[in-house]
Amino acid sequence: MIEQTLVLIKPDGVQRGLIGEILKRFEQRGLKIVGMKMVQASANQATEHYGEEIAEKYGKKVLDYLVDFVTSTPVIAIVIQGSSAIATVRKIVGATYPGEADLGTIRGDFNHTSKVYAKKNDQGHNLIHASESEEAAKRELALWFSIDEIHDYKLSHEEHIL
Ligand code: ADP
Repeated sequence: MIEQTLVLIKPDGVQRGLIGEILKRFEQRGLKIVGMKMVQASANQATEHYGEEIAEKYGKKVLDYLVDFVTSTPVIAIVIQGSSAIATVRKIVGATYPGEADLGTIRGDFNHTSKVYAKKNDQGHNLIHASESEEAAKRELALWFSIDEIHDYKLSHEEHIL
């Protein structure tokens, strides 16, 4: 099924000059970028994005930390479209904690912290956000993009990669 999903290159990805490297991972897999922009998120937007789910899962302290981190400098917001895009993008991104992410995934390949360090201090700095489910993708896309910022177009080589 053709799906759309939201990816954010978080402030650490932008600061480390990894925007191009990260985009390449999705493009080379044949996924299509149908929306993209740089956004300085407000605390309200970041709180709405991570919302109660993160507070419930990890506690309020982690939510506050994440909101501060994600709003510290701009992020790149991307709409990615493709066959099973939600699960495929999550696979390309890798496990939540960089020190535990497999090599070959974005979080694994660009992790430069030791496992111990990553576990203790650096859990939020994992370069990317990617929607977890169809429901999350729908909610998050509406939070970051207006309809006219998502483009319906064909790539000239599309019939060869789908
Ligand atoms: P994912 O981003 O892989 O879907 P989650 O939805 O579980 O992972 O968590 C959302 C984000 O919360 C993570 O990407 C990470 O940036 C941050 N995070 C998770 N656990 C912690 C933690 N213990 N301390 C700080 N940030 C955390």
